[in-house]
Amino acid sequence: MTQGYHKKILVVDLSTESWHIEEPEDKIYRQYYGGYGLGVYYIYTHLKPGVDPLSPENILGFCPGLFTGTPSPFSGRYMVCGKSPLTGGWGNANSGGTFGPEIKKVGLDAIFFKGKSEKPTYLFIDGKNIQLLDASELWGKDTIETENFIEKKHGPRVKVACIGQAGENLSRISGIVNDLGRIAARSGLGAVMGFKKLKAVCIRRSKENEKLELHDKKELMNQIKQYNSNFKEMAKKGFMTKVLGSMGSLAPLLRIMKKNTGSFDSPGMAKMIVQMFSTTQLGTTSANLVSAQIGDSPIKNFKGIGYKDFPMKKAKRIGGKKIKKLMKTPYGCFTCPARCGAILEYDALPYPEKETHRPEYETCASLGCLILNDDLDLLLKANELLNRACMDTISAGGVIAYVYECCEQGLLTEKDFKCAAYPEGFLPKWKDNSYLLQLLKMMINREGIGDILADGVKIASEKLPGSKEYAIHANGQEIPMHDSRQDPTLALTYIADPTPGRHTAASLSLDKMGLKYFLEELGSFEVNNENDLGKQQAKIAKFKQAIEATGMCILSLNMGAYPFLEIIRAITGWNVSIDEVVETGYRIQTLRQMFNAREGAIRHYISQRAIGSPPLIKGPLKEKSYDLEPLAQDYYEAMGYQKNGVPKKETLELLNLNLAVEDLSNAKGVTITLENEYIKKQITQFKKSFNNPSRIQPLTGG
Ligand code: SF4
Repeated sequence: MTQGYHKKILVVDLSTESWHIEEPEDKIYRQYYGGYGLGVYYIYTHLKPGVDPLSPENILGFCPGLFTGTPSPFSGRYMVCGKSPLTGGWGNANSGGTFGPEIKKVGLDAIFFKGKSEKPTYLFIDGKNIQLLDASELWGKDTIETENFIEKKHGPRVKVACIGQAGENLSRISGIVNDLGRIAARSGLGAVMGFKKLKAVCIRRSKENEKLELHDKKELMNQIKQYNSNFKEMAKKGFMTKVLGSMGSLAPLLRIMKKNTGSFDSPGMAKMIVQMFSTTQLGTTSANLVSAQIGDSPIKNFKGIGYKDFPMKKAKRIGGKKIKKLMKTPYGCFTCPARCGAILEYDALPYPEKETHRPEYETCASLGCLILNDDLDLLLKANELLNRACMDTISAGGVIAYVYECCEQGLLTEKDFKCAAYPEGFLPKWKDNSYLLQLLKMMINREGIGDILADGVKIASEKLPGSKEYAIHANGQEIPMHDSRQDPTLALTYIADPTPGRHTAASLSLDKMGLKYFLEELGSFEVNNENDLGKQQAKIAKFKQAIEATGMCILSLNMGAYPFLEIIRAITGWNVSIDEVVETGYRIQTLRQMFNAREGAIRHYISQRAIGSPPLIKGPLKEKSYDLEPLAQDYYEAMGYQKNGVPKKETLELLNLNLAVEDLSNAKGVTITLENEYIKKQITQFKKSFNNPSRIQPLTGG
């Protein structure tokens, strides 16, 4: 009897309108868990190398994690995966809400789509009955209209993941929405769904669906009870809640503190994060004000400085507290004790529904300080427009910032923006966001210049000569709202993770503090000598894939001790050790890397501005400038990869990845150059001073 999984994956061929169930061997679950672990195993072994991501050959997976569908806290996520049309390499994106658990509850561990339908279609899993239904009526509808239509037709118990107009129009920065506003946004996988003419995946489970068997339910519930009780204790309202609620006002002070202390690491941190995300009910918007001031949020397309270009009085207009005033009800994803989400009520929305999901921090920054927008009304309307069309808000903000700069430089002029609404055109500019919504609509509908912009800044800059400098991305994907100049390990993540430009991918900079308290078996993340940065980054990269494969929300990594090993054992009956868990994550990361090696998609491109070349001359990121190659070399060595990023044969063998060995003969890596002596010197200083509380200082002045 299987425990924790069903040993059943559904494979749908849209070209032949047929489907079948595959039953992977038990050892596949133990070696890859679920989520994109199972996803990369299936896609790697079934996808021909070199296919166009927007072709019938691409495979699109919907993969809940190993914990998803069980009562384990924070475990409600699913991953969408496939070859990315944005980067040409491995693509994955994840989403919370309630859709992921439904895949498990209907008796499946994953759903994969092959081929391409002739006409718009949607998959409807109704108990044990599987159907592909006509979606012609839904084509052209936004995600809320689509979900409402399906709910009306199939009843309120149906769970839906769907694309909007951006995915239908094959925008390479489009994603997939579930629960009326949770989005698997990154990697452009909405376009893959749009190409396949697959409008939605809908699930309505019934009593006849097989229950998920658990190895030791009693032990699992004991662990959960204990965890939730500790969490409740941390979340108790008190003095700290008040302080955190007003933390925005302390932003200038925090900017100075960060400069002098190097980090906010302390044992009380977990409690502080719990309170910040859940108790204050600010969710991730609790970071809006602070991040803009301390150098975390990129400002004005990465060329601005928070306190100068987006000072407190502007930042406050789109701050977490301001947004909270519109809150109708807080909510959380399946089994989440933190409940960081919220539904806002906003009458000015130009839709019949006057409710909207609260924008996350990433959105508030990308449609806020990145483009110098301090108008909350515009931010909420832009967020809702993008959610309905299902376009990634991080990438969309990056495109708008790129447009503003191209206009500032005279590369785009008024006539370039001719469209039905403005036959004479218009001129977007910094600090005047009056054309923001029109620009986004043009991108969603591929109208006029929107046709070029709909595929992200890299592709746009290839079509607009002279604009490469203003297109801020890492290996083709727009960089998220955590400035890569803060810390070279963050920038390293943006270029060296198989899905580039992701703040959720493993980085020593963002993860070491939380992981130290999350799972003490992981041991220390101390950096004692020059090569330790790469080694510790590798250690985090290995472990974090195991987390992702369980379907856990990564915000939980910052919220204190979690009985991770105990929960795996109680769900599956596997007597796992920490070493085995880390090895599982290592295997997943290495197969993702091999996917890119096979596709020739290991690259180290990051826009020069995003690594401080030239450096800013003022502000928290003053004179920060990095060459990432020495660090990348240390990281690859610690991962058992060659200097060019391609895994070594012995590493594949060690990880039971013999299935990838023969691909080594055609694998392509990156070409490394170590040119800039000045920057090399800085990275050496950074390595030496990593554990020094005043580590920010030695980097300035070089
Ligand atoms: S912390 Fe927020 S995003 Fe994460 S599972 Fe909970 S509600 Fe969802």
